[in-house]
Amino acid sequence: MAEELNPFKIAQEQLDKAAAVMGLDKQAHAILREPRRTIIVNIPVRMRDGRVQTFTGFRVQYNDARGPAKGGIRFHPAENIDTVKALSAWMTWKCSLADIPFGGGKGGVICDPKKFNPAELEALSRGYIRALAKFIGPDVDVPAPDVYTTPQIMAWMMDEYSTIVGHNSFGVITGKPVEVWGSEGRMDSTALGGMFVMREAAKAMKINLKKAKIAVQGFGNAGMFAYTLSKKMFGSNVVAISDSQGGVYDPDGLDLAKLELAKKTGGTVDKYKSKNAEKITNEELLELDVDILIPAAIENQITNANADKVKAKLVLELANGPVTPEADEILHEKKILDMPDFLVNSGGVIGSYFEWAQNQTNIYWKTPEFQAKLDEIITKSFKDTMDLRASYASKGKKIAPRTAAYIIAVDRVAKAMKARGWY
Ligand code: GLU
Repeated sequence: MAEELNPFKIAQEQLDKAAAVMGLDKQAHAILREPRRTIIVNIPVRMRDGRVQTFTGFRVQYNDARGPAKGGIRFHPAENIDTVKALSAWMTWKCSLADIPFGGGKGGVICDPKKFNPAELEALSRGYIRALAKFIGPDVDVPAPDVYTTPQIMAWMMDEYSTIVGHNSFGVITGKPVEVWGSEGRMDSTALGGMFVMREAAKAMKINLKKAKIAVQGFGNAGMFAYTLSKKMFGSNVVAISDSQGGVYDPDGLDLAKLELAKKTGGTVDKYKSKNAEKITNEELLELDVDILIPAAIENQITNANADKVKAKLVLELANGPVTPEADEILHEKKILDMPDFLVNSGGVIGSYFEWAQNQTNIYWKTPEFQAKLDEIITKSFKDTMDLRASYASKGKKIAPRTAAYIIAVDRVAKAMKARGWY
């Protein structure tokens, strides 16, 4: 039978699995299976030819028992409500596992931003905020960047919101440029958090990162920094990388200057030129004989169709939702350690929390303070997850890291809902 690839069904299935293992209260489970609020808007934008084109936008506020909804906005041609719902659920668990004072939310617009000129991009960004201004705010719902949205877009959105409310409201959105009180350190914090998890997981598995071979799927904000940081921090050998068009494999290790040249002149990383480099597909990248595999692109990349071909010992999910539940089981059976997305990529939202906290207090930090605090929070999340897993193992129940992380996150949200009298 074909595997279910609807991301929201997957998110619900993951929750159900954790709920069964932890014995979650049925009423809490019912509340947590659905978002609290789903908003769909129509955004008219005047395009360069003078005509108005309308775009569909979404914002889902999944749960705010522990704080304002929090999560990014995607501009993507394949965006749809089920993806946004799934991502908003994952944001809820991500903020809870990190133990930061936010709930979960997510937004998106169905569009192809690569086809826009800057004026159209700005008009769509401002239009999105005009449509949603009533429903967001620093204490209500705090958006951020995600796939194909940038610090510049966050700055336009903050400006539009500030104009609507009649005063500067820097804390309404995170991932802003530092000129408008984004935070030092936020730019690469998703990947940096992933590197701290990689360091801890490698320690636990006795993988020597200096000798490790790594493949990275994705060359966006997460993948590109994962590439540079794994080389810089650990001297690891990144042998493969890809973007949405395709990838490149070089057993000698990839060179950043050549990758950037390939991107600049050819538009894609597979135009990379070197003696032993060869072009590979995104699917081939996932099956390479490497020590560590970092999916850092989009959902549903490792499925029941290819999970048994994964050769890495450690999978670090830097993307949201790259491994399906059936693939999860297969990796678990193969004794591959698969570190879940809402732990591995939580450095992004932890960095957003720091940015928001700075905006709320008007006291600003420097990069070393930001990075040290990020390390502390994410390393604790890793340890909490592994400790809970070990405690189940000692009772004879083997659970995957994802289930352990879910149990911690869901338990915190359920306890907050209970204290508030929601059930
Ligand atoms: N879009 C990022 C994520 O999926 C960051 C969200 C945020 O900073 O609010 O975690």
